[in-house]
Order: sequence, then C-alpha cells, then structure tokens
Amino acid sequence: MSPCKLQMEQRKGRRLILFPFPLQGHINPMLELANILHFKGFSITIIQTNFNSLNPSTHPQFTFHSISDDLSESEAAEDDLLLLLSHLNTKCSEPFRECLATLLSSLTEEPVACLICDPLFDFTQSVAESLKLPWILLRTSGASSTAVYSAFPLLWEKGYIPKQDSRLEETVTELSPVKVKDLPMIHSSDPERFFKLVRSITYETKDSYGYIFNTFEDLEQDALATIRKKFHIPVFPIGPFHKCVPATTSANSLLSQDRSCISWLNTQAPKSVIYVSFGSIAAINEAQFLEIGWGLANSKQSFLWVVRPGLVQGSEWLEPLPSGFLESLNGMGHIVKWAPQKEVLAHQAVGVFWTHTGWNSTLEGICEGVPMICIPFFADQMVNARYVSDVWKIGLQLEVGIKREEIERAIRRLMMEKEGEEIRDRVSKLKDMANLCLKQGGTSYQSLDDLINHILSLESLITKLTSQ
Ligand code: UDP
Repeated sequence: MSPCKLQMEQRKGRRLILFPFPLQGHINPMLELANILHFKGFSITIIQTNFNSLNPSTHPQFTFHSISDDLSESEAAEDDLLLLLSHLNTKCSEPFRECLATLLSSLTEEPVACLICDPLFDFTQSVAESLKLPWILLRTSGASSTAVYSAFPLLWEKGYIPKQDSRLEETVTELSPVKVKDLPMIHSSDPERFFKLVRSITYETKDSYGYIFNTFEDLEQDALATIRKKFHIPVFPIGPFHKCVPATTSANSLLSQDRSCISWLNTQAPKSVIYVSFGSIAAINEAQFLEIGWGLANSKQSFLWVVRPGLVQGSEWLEPLPSGFLESLNGMGHIVKWAPQKEVLAHQAVGVFWTHTGWNSTLEGICEGVPMICIPFFADQMVNARYVSDVWKIGLQLEVGIKREEIERAIRRLMMEKEGEEIRDRVSKLKDMANLCLKQGGTSYQSLDDLINHILSLESLITKLTSQ
C-alpha cells in the first residue's frame, strides 16, 4: 500500500511561526509538520537557535530566523541532558521574545495565525501570552508516554516515584502493562530539575490552544482519550508526519548521512539484515559496545550498525572493537556514523530494527512494518519499549540489559522462529493502519483538516486579544 502524500493547496494568506527544540528527535517532526502545513497553504517562518541549527538553503520554502543562544562550548557539549535543556531555556528566552516581537510587528501583509512550539521550551507560553499570540504545542513523543507523564502526581501519591529498587518489576496497576522500571526518567546531577520540567510541561499544556501529536488514533487510542480528558484542549493526532510529505532526505539531519549503507543493503537478501541504531543522544559504555558487537557477530546474521561519534563514552568511534573484528565477518557487517534511517527501514533487505525506541524511530519502524528489538535508555523510550513488546506485541525487549547471549537469542527468535513471523504479521498490520489513516476519510487526514480549521479560527481570538 502506498503512503499518502499531500497535494500542494492554494495559499491561505496566513503565516505560522514554528520554534523547534534543537535536538534531532525534535527537529525532525517539527520540520515535517512545517512541510505538512506548507502544503496546506500556510506560509512558514522557523525560528531556530544557533545551537544545532539547520542550513536554511535546504528548506527554501520556509523563512528562517536565528536567535543567539550564547551557549559556551562546554554548555553546548553538555552530556547531562537536563542541564543542556536548562541552559537553552535560560539563554533563549529573551532572544526569542525579541525575535518574535520583531516578526509580529513586521509581518503585516500576511497575518501570523499562531505559534507552534515544543513544550521543552518552558518560556514560550509567557512570551506568546505577552505578545497576544495563540500558541499550539507539538509533542514530539508518543501519546502513551505523554499520558504516563501526566499521571506523575498520582504516581507520587501512590509511592511509585521516586523509584525504589525493590519495586522495579512491579506493574503500575493504574498504567498496566507499564512497570515501575518503565516510568520515564532522565538521570541528572539534579533529579529535582526533571520533576520541575514534567510539572512545567503539564501546566504549559493545560493553557495551550491545542496539542499536536505525531501519532495516529488506531495506534494510541486509549492514551489519546486520557490526554483529551485530562487537558481539555483540542488534540490533533495527525501522524505519521513523514508519510504525509515527500521525503526531505538529508535536509533535517544534523550529522551527515553515509549513503554507503544503501549500496551495501542493495547487495543483501530480502529481510536478512538487522538494522541497529540508538538515535541521536543515547550513550553506552565500552563493555556494552563490545557485547553488542559480539552479540551481532555471534548471531551470524548480516547487520547494519549506526555507531554515532559519541555513542561510546570515552571513545572517538570504533577503537574499542578488537582489531580485525569487521574483516572477520566477511562482509556480513557494515558500520556507519549516521544513516538515512527512513530509507534504510524502507529497504527490502532490512528484516529487524534494533532500536532505543525513541518515538521517531519507533514510528518509523512501524510505518515500514519492521519487527523490533528494544533497548530503551531513558525518558519516553522506556514506555515506548513496553508498548512495542507488551501492548502492540511487535518486538522483543532486552529486559536484562545488553548481554551478548540475550542479543543472539532475540535475533534468533525474531528471524528464525514462529514467534518472529507472528510479530512480523502484527507490525505489518500496523503499517497498513498507518497508511490508511492518512488517506481521505482516515483519522489523521480528518484530524489534520480539524487542525487547519482550528488554526484559522484562532484569528477571531487574536482580534479579541489585541483589542483588550
Ligand atoms: N536518525 C537518522 N539516522 C541515524 C539515526 C537516527 O536519520 O543514523 C533519525 C531517525 O530517523 C529519527 C531521529 O534521527 O527520525 C531520532 O529520533 P528518535 O526520536 O528516534 O530518537 P532520539 O535521537 O531523539 O533519541
């Protein structure tokens, strides 16, 4: 079944301002959304930070404005994700306010209909409010993990968090089949910072003018219902985004994609390759790196492995692997620093996706009907992995961490056993559902129409706000 691509619609004479959070997993969906809304007739302005900025010439259809984030070299290289978020929030607030105010006073020919922003920036609400501009949030995680975050007050009350080692395997009755160990956390030198972030996202959401999700009703119906009930704001599940718009190939990529992997995949048999990638942030230690290498090698299956510089703590790239490791595999392994992932997953040679279950990767895997091996590291990845293994039943989770025997066993179960065939059938059905929901009459198609009408209806609100 072919994916549904949007047709370019007549210009609407309205501009939208989008403000992506500058991490790969947040940039991709925001830029895909920008393309969708551009196809729907809106003019698009992107405000971006200097940190992790995109080259505007790769998106000539949008207008770009950069704000200075003034991050020092050490702040920009911060390993503590929460600290990085905190630096960005502290340093971008004023430059963003100035940039938005200037844009609003200068963009008079095409009125600005609203701001679309990422809740990881905690100042956008107060800035938008002070400038009397409605704002809509794009949540780049899935609805299921968002529903878990929104249950944090209850989880505190019931004593599930902070997590206790003795309860990790316990199922959270209120969120079954999520276990205590799956509750989404980010390790930090200052754990309180994380709870503050979750609280601030919850408050920001309640006051926003809408919530856009890169998901589809059939996949996360219950979680979407929970979110609608909890937040009382319009919710728009219009995904999967990347299937609506023409592929932008490398345009959103912060690292340069190594296309040698596509030529290599072309030489492999259908569904024979394990594609291994842990996204743009997760890091592992040397011992885990070696377990992965040996687990893959011992499986005797072909693999394509993304080893991002920085993936292995304390190493530049592949140095921890024993010399001659790759050569000894006789062409069965190929390693790159960064891959054109969507194209890889869509390649007929790929049979299994070993993923960290970042939301984009999870959805991309589903859209290509590829069974998954999951090794979540932090935050929403934990919940996504539980959904992949226990709710949608489209993959296996490495429950005891990264151990070569476990890896080999998971690969065997997926590639050679009946269980693997059943998993492949289920994910293939989800793939069909993902395609269907984007077609005319499908839930995401309808929800996108609702979003457009909602955005256009905000105009009367702006008139009201500005006349007050
Ligand atoms: N990605 C890619 N090439 C790679 C690895 C990842 O293009 O070699 C893309 C992937 O397609 C996805 C994004 O990077 O869109 C990662 O987002 P995700 O939410 O999966 O994980 P995060 O990086 O935020 O942990």
